[in-house]
Amino acid sequence: MNAGLRDDTPMLGFTGADGIGLFRTEFQFLVSATLPSRERQTRLYRDVLEAAGDKPVVFRTVDIGGDKVLPYLRHNEGEAEENPAMGWRALRVALERDGLLKVQARALLEAAGGRTLNVMFPMVTEPWEFDAAKAVFEGQLAFLRQRKKILPEAIRYGAMLEVPALAEWLDVLAPRLSFLSIGTNDLTQFLFAADRANPKLAERYDWLSPAILRFLRRVVTTVAPFGTDVTVCGEMGGRRLEALGLLGLGITRLSITPAAVGPVKELVRKVDIAEIRAAMDRWLAEPPHDMRATLAAWAAERGIECD
Ligand code: PEP
Ligand code: MG
Repeated sequence: MNAGLRDDTPMLGFTGADGIGLFRTEFQFLVSATLPSRERQTRLYRDVLEAAGDKPVVFRTVDIGGDKVLPYLRHNEGEAEENPAMGWRALRVALERDGLLKVQARALLEAAGGRTLNVMFPMVTEPWEFDAAKAVFEGQLAFLRQRKKILPEAIRYGAMLEVPALAEWLDVLAPRLSFLSIGTNDLTQFLFAADRANPKLAERYDWLSPAILRFLRRVVTTVAPFGTDVTVCGEMGGRRLEALGLLGLGITRLSITPAAVGPVKELVRKVDIAEIRAAMDRWLAEPPHDMRATLAAWAAERGIECD
């Protein structure tokens, strides 16, 4: 499931989710009046890991900037961005203000002492950005090792695929990744060139369009030889018909809003995965006029409710 606050963690037990596939660490920054200290960050991450017990938690480094403006962290005072979603945000901010990332890296590494740390970077656009962010973590790891601190047992580094350009790099990047997490909220707004926050466009393009599904299938196929875990962590995976479409693409890991976990699990139990995959292969080879209607009819014929 997706989470971002300490108070979200009890939902792991209520929903029966297998873990937290996206912990949005910027929430702590957004609800604070000042930059959260390293100690406060460490406390939050430790509490979340403790609450999750044996279940994995994937921490996403801060996705701030753009439209998630922090009054205490300004790029250029008074300089508004015309396209904040495509602007100075996420890893772009973190790499430039590497003090910010260093503090967060230290907090995550300390909080995960004796456990596995899963960390991923948002808005990776080119492989060097992933490498640079990982290097910040490795630098902090060396520092903690020197100080004889308890280190994580393992560190798994992942990238979020949100910027279409990264898809062209996946054969190069995949060997360096422990996992790939597809942020379909941002990815689809960039693929369609349609602002995800603009209500006028909310209904115009469909997550189940062949353009999206073909794109995602290409991603799955490209990383498959490397054995990279692929998760979809955008809202798309929390809708039953969309989740069915993703199963058809061979995606088996979803991180979704807690309320959707039960309904999507129930759907997954009803679906013959081999059958939906074969059907999806056919549909993507020759896309039907209305993919949504085609999928819905397929589900209805099998008594699977998808509304
Ligand atoms: C996404 O873009 O799909 C995503 C999961 O990140 P966020 O919604 O926080 O931008
Ligand atoms: Mg995103």
